Amino acid sequence: MDELKKSVKELHGVGEKTYEKIKRLKLKTIEDLIWYFPKEYEDRSDYIKLRECPLNAKGTFYVEILEEPVIQSHRKNMDILKVAVTDGESRFFLSWFNQNYLKNRLRVGYKYTVNGKLVQIGRELQITNPIIGTKEEIAKIQAVYGLTEGLGNKELKKIIDKALEQYLVYVKDMVPKTISEKYGFMSIEGAIYTMHNPKDRDSLIRARNRLVFQEFLSLQTAIFTVRNRNTLNDFGIQYEAEDESLKFIENLPFKLTEAQKKVYLEIKEDMESKTQMNRLVQGDVGSGKTVVVVIAMYKAFLSGYQSAMMAPTEILARQHVESLNEFYSDYGVKVELLIGSLKESEKKDVLNRLKNGDIDILVGTHALIQDLVEFKNLGLVITDEQHRFGVKQRAVLEKKGDSPDILVMTATPIPRTLSLIFYGDLDISIIDELPPGRKEIETYAVGTEMVSRINSFIIKQLEEGRQIYVVSPLIEENEVLDLKSAEKIYSEFKNHVFKDYSVGLLHGKMKASEKDEIMNDFKSGRIQIIVSTTVIEVGVNVPNANVMVVYNAERFGLAQLHQLRGRVGRGEYQSYCIFINEGQNKIARERMRVLQDTTDGFKISEKDLELRGPGEFLGVRQHGLPSFKLANIILDLPILKLVQKEAEILIKDDPNLIKPENFYLRKEVNSILKEIKSDISLN
Ligand code: ADP
Ligand code: MG
Repeated sequence: MDELKKSVKELHGVGEKTYEKIKRLKLKTIEDLIWYFPKEYEDRSDYIKLRECPLNAKGTFYVEILEEPVIQSHRKNMDILKVAVTDGESRFFLSWFNQNYLKNRLRVGYKYTVNGKLVQIGRELQITNPIIGTKEEIAKIQAVYGLTEGLGNKELKKIIDKALEQYLVYVKDMVPKTISEKYGFMSIEGAIYTMHNPKDRDSLIRARNRLVFQEFLSLQTAIFTVRNRNTLNDFGIQYEAEDESLKFIENLPFKLTEAQKKVYLEIKEDMESKTQMNRLVQGDVGSGKTVVVVIAMYKAFLSGYQSAMMAPTEILARQHVESLNEFYSDYGVKVELLIGSLKESEKKDVLNRLKNGDIDILVGTHALIQDLVEFKNLGLVITDEQHRFGVKQRAVLEKKGDSPDILVMTATPIPRTLSLIFYGDLDISIIDELPPGRKEIETYAVGTEMVSRINSFIIKQLEEGRQIYVVSPLIEENEVLDLKSAEKIYSEFKNHVFKDYSVGLLHGKMKASEKDEIMNDFKSGRIQIIVSTTVIEVGVNVPNANVMVVYNAERFGLAQLHQLRGRVGRGEYQSYCIFINEGQNKIARERMRVLQDTTDGFKISEKDLELRGPGEFLGVRQHGLPSFKLANIILDLPILKLVQKEAEILIKDDPNLIKPENFYLRKEVNSILKEIKSDISLN
């Protein structure tokens, strides 16, 4: 049996009670315990003098006992042990509650290291309840663990130290030796030990870097393994080489941009090759991703295959169906919609026709990945706005065909280093050009005092026949947050500010049919102002709408605001985007400046990442990737870059990780592949 998989209970001194508590921290095996790193460190290694220590702050002092300690009995159950000391400059006191036993340990004239909080009591300066001992015992970096009720730091530390003492030798090093030597890494045992018992700051950093490196290395290698398999397998569909799809391009109502053409040709080449396509199309809002996949789906149709297109919202799915029908009006391509809100009878009908092959393209939401959905011969799978779906959902849809080609689209471009880890299993195409004739959107960031002026501006635009989006982060009023809700804005608009115009409300809690009705009314112009939550965020296309107003813009991510801005500027009219910020701090101003200064989605998402951190930005988990124990994808970006270089070399040199030096890396990679539910494993 693997020693590390043994239960925590096996440890000496861990009884049933302690075990129950430890289990609450999700620690079950010895291995869990060993890899349970401190959540932070308290650095007590630097001595300070009393005069340097602020009141109510903690410090480490080197003190000499000046007088015999005294015990003062206060109330019934409260004794205070007090002793006068000096740090060579000042005279002050150490004091403890109910720890009379310390009295005999304190000898006049002896020196001790103490650490505790400095407080003022009356006119006396005291260090209260200090820990006391030798330099080695006290003046060090102390590990601080995440705890649970009834389990103190000291107790947990003792258990972990026990585990380290007995079991650290069983931990295997998965970093190949050549890499370890190249970077001068400390041993895996040394690194883990140091994380729990850092000698000094320098070795702590070295230990952490080494562990972050290996965390990235296993994930990146796993992802590259998937990509490798994709590009090596010969099981994909080989579509007929043809020129019909190029003729389709010539007959489009507009001329494709060079970037669109280039990306389509990359897709065409993938489709005509024997290997399965796994391609990501990145392109800013409005760059025209849809038409590119419209052509790809037409190509699949020409070879007699069905396509599936998955969108994150029903509104978007419906809109895709509409525009597909327009594009295909002369080509006999049959497009259908499948969303949760269809009537049962309608669903049944769609599913039947899909199975019979009477439907060429099925567009829908998550509904597409339900078990019931069966295609006749699915050849091309497209997910729109990929950042809203995870690896797993994509995989489920893929299973509905026999190695269909895969195309994913995203409007949230990210830097290459990150796309290699988020999308490292995909080839990447970038549409880096907007269709011509787009007018620049005028962007303003304002405070709430501007609201009435904005409202007058809106009226002016309405009088000229335009339509307006107004977005708020919340649906209902929330007293705690004190944000302006969509509902409140809606009722103010409808009953007062814009009572002479038609106002509509749209939010995620509405029934799908209600949402559709509102959206259709907005498209047709029956609704002039639409007040909405971010359900409006992705993909919606209403060229006559030229003003986007966002309330509480400080609550949104930059990439999200950029997406919202992308809702306007889609027609011939000068468009405006107004971000209303509640309370202005430095970061808010900086964020707004980024949006005003640039319209490049790439730069904006990089900045977003920098300002907000990755958790909020993309959500590693949302991508179906395992979360990191230690690594921080932004702060550790330089390490990730090194890892990617090494992982590329490694996989090229030993694609199946069969070399002996890669044995433990392969084990780790396999367990990650299992976790991300990949079909692939290295045997
Ligand atoms: P996104 O990349 O944000 O999904 P869309 O595919 O929705 O962008 O395209 C935005 C709008 O631009 C659509 O109305 C589309 O018909 C139009 N469009 C796309 N490509 C071109 C082009 N080459 N020239 C002119 N208009 C285009
Ligand atoms: Mg789109």
